[in-house]
Amino acid sequence: MSLTGMVYRPPYEANSLLLQVTRGCSHNKCTFCHMYPDVPFSVCPMEDVEADIEEAARYCPDVDRVFLEHGDAFVLSADRLIRIADAIHARLPRVKTIAMYASIQNIRHKTDDELRRLRACGIGGLDIGVESGLDAALTYMNKGHTAAEARVQLRRLTDAGIDYSFNAILGCGGAELWRENADATAELINAVQPHLLFIGTLHAEPGCRLYRDIKEGLFRECTFGQLLDEQERLISGLDLKDTIYFGAHPSNVVPMQGRLPEHRQAMIAAVREKREQLRCRLDEYPRRGGEGSILDQ
Ligand code: SF4
Repeated sequence: MSLTGMVYRPPYEANSLLLQVTRGCSHNKCTFCHMYPDVPFSVCPMEDVEADIEEAARYCPDVDRVFLEHGDAFVLSADRLIRIADAIHARLPRVKTIAMYASIQNIRHKTDDELRRLRACGIGGLDIGVESGLDAALTYMNKGHTAAEARVQLRRLTDAGIDYSFNAILGCGGAELWRENADATAELINAVQPHLLFIGTLHAEPGCRLYRDIKEGLFRECTFGQLLDEQERLISGLDLKDTIYFGAHPSNVVPMQGRLPEHRQAMIAAVREKREQLRCRLDEYPRRGGEGSILDQ
């Protein structure tokens, strides 16, 4: 079994079987993205997918979760995804969940009936880069959806019984719009009540448009102080019934995990403690390494 190009997966898919069904990303133009710059999008032939499933059945027959690669495998038609799911269940009978990255646009292109059929064959755990609830940020980041569209499509998923991770990016509004970004993102999250919230912080790698825009002064990143203020404002604005906040990504100034609403005060206290630690450097910009990890705090 071979996977072409760089392979990305969410951290909580570490024990999943990674199965390639597409190459690249069908959108491939988010302003901050550097994941598949040289990988033209294509769909893997079904024979290759079946051969990989066959191989997996020999080497890891007890696997119970599969993550479909690459960037937005949910772009595949419902019929194609159901064919893949049937092939997985036929050879890997312990598999309960077939997860993958998905975009709001991918959901929009499926009917309610198709979503229910996909759920019935084990498809769930979608990992969705919603990024922000602020239209100005979504437009600049070139996500291809508005906040209102995200609200509609995520509710359709919930109605169909499909679980997902809502991925949001702190700093998406830059230095000018961090307050608006926190408020609008909290409002969208509250409206859709995801069970899993994945929080990262904006960072730019060479090769993406955001990197060039920052160098040319067209986009102003948030400072340590602004990122901490935005994180506190976001957490304070969340009104959730039962959501896991997964914010352990190294790009975050305060990596943290918790459950909302139970851990809200502890999470806010952690942000304030970090602000105190960094009180002499709040106007500085984080210096970052791989995956946006902060090198010098
Ligand atoms: S949808 Fe995801 S993989 Fe595709 S360009 Fe945007 S961030 Fe990159």
